[in-house]
Amino acid sequence: MHLEWFGWEINFHPVWLLAAAAALWFVFHVARRLWNWLRWKSGLFGPARQLRRQKAALGNASAALGALVSGQEERAAALAQDALKSDPTNSMAQAVAALTGDTARIAELDRNNATKSLAALARLRTAPDLSVAREATRAAPTSAAAWQALVEESARSGDYAHAISALSNWRALDDTAERLGSWIEASLLTAAADAELDDEPARTGLSRALKAEPRFAPAATRLALLAEEASDVSGAERAAESVWSVQPTPTLARAFADLYPLETDETRLARLQKLAAKNPENPESLLIVSEAALTAGDPALALETVSPLLSDPPIRLRAAAVAMEAHRRLGMDPPTGALWLDAAATGAPGLRWHCANCRTESVEWELECQSCKRIGILLPGDLT
Ligand SMILES: [Zn+2]
Repeated sequence: MHLEWFGWEINFHPVWLLAAAAALWFVFHVARRLWNWLRWKSGLFGPARQLRRQKAALGNASAALGALVSGQEERAAALAQDALKSDPTNSMAQAVAALTGDTARIAELDRNNATKSLAALARLRTAPDLSVAREATRAAPTSAAAWQALVEESARSGDYAHAISALSNWRALDDTAERLGSWIEASLLTAAADAELDDEPARTGLSRALKAEPRFAPAATRLALLAEEASDVSGAERAAESVWSVQPTPTLARAFADLYPLETDETRLARLQKLAAKNPENPESLLIVSEAALTAGDPALALETVSPLLSDPPIRLRAAAVAMEAHRRLGMDPPTGALWLDAAATGAPGLRWHCANCRTESVEWELECQSCKRIGILLPGDLT
């Protein structure tokens, strides 16, 4: 073939032409494959680099979320920061970072509509207060943590009615809250009654507390004391007897014993024996009868009643103190040994309360755990 083009004279052989076309096609094809590989797979620049970083961020963010869920906060925080170094736009990593205290990330979550609820929860974890808790229950109404915070912050601010209404939502979302719900409700109602200036609404609140949780001794004890103050002695006796059958406590026994200041020691012994009969096997029942018998001048009855308790670990020190005094009054030599020395040195420890969250012990019932600041989950020693 012969071709003339702008004064150039070109000679083509058809075979040469075909070979050139094939070579061109081959070079073009290889170059295209290489270019695609460089762009999408090599990870050296452009989309490949971005994809590689996003993939790394996703891996770290998932691991961070897993660590957060299993309670490893420090590990979660570190993994989230690694993920954000690779891809600052990864919202899962932003959320974990915000939830583990990186407050600067909260604004990023706020900007993204889909992560507004996570932003509210992160704010709640880092700076909980009543308005933040309210916002969290609105932004994330299915989060148990949000409702728990609303219950606790409302109670802390003294708004017990609001705390009790939020409690029902928290109970519906959380198994532990459901299990402890009646204790928390009774605790809130008792704290509300403590804050009341008038006796009548306080008594109503305490009755509601006992309805929610009949074993909640602090409510019964307060109710008995209020009835006693109002000269409603039979009301006080009823309150004491109703709770004695389910949960006897030393405080309740003291209030019950003091109901009639003018009665003789023998009458008091008879009344306490009647109260003890509501729960005859309970060590507290045996203790109040033995203590009253000692006061009424019957050390033999005191010793007989208290003896089964001397081998009962939680109560044996208090029992030992009574038994030792009974021995003395009966003119018997008090037994010696570690048990009696312990009793003399330790005095008479009463019922103990412990926090269901952090196990911290407390001698008196309180609404708030002094250690972890959780609300309404102090349980008596024998309830777990
Ligand atoms: Zn605690």
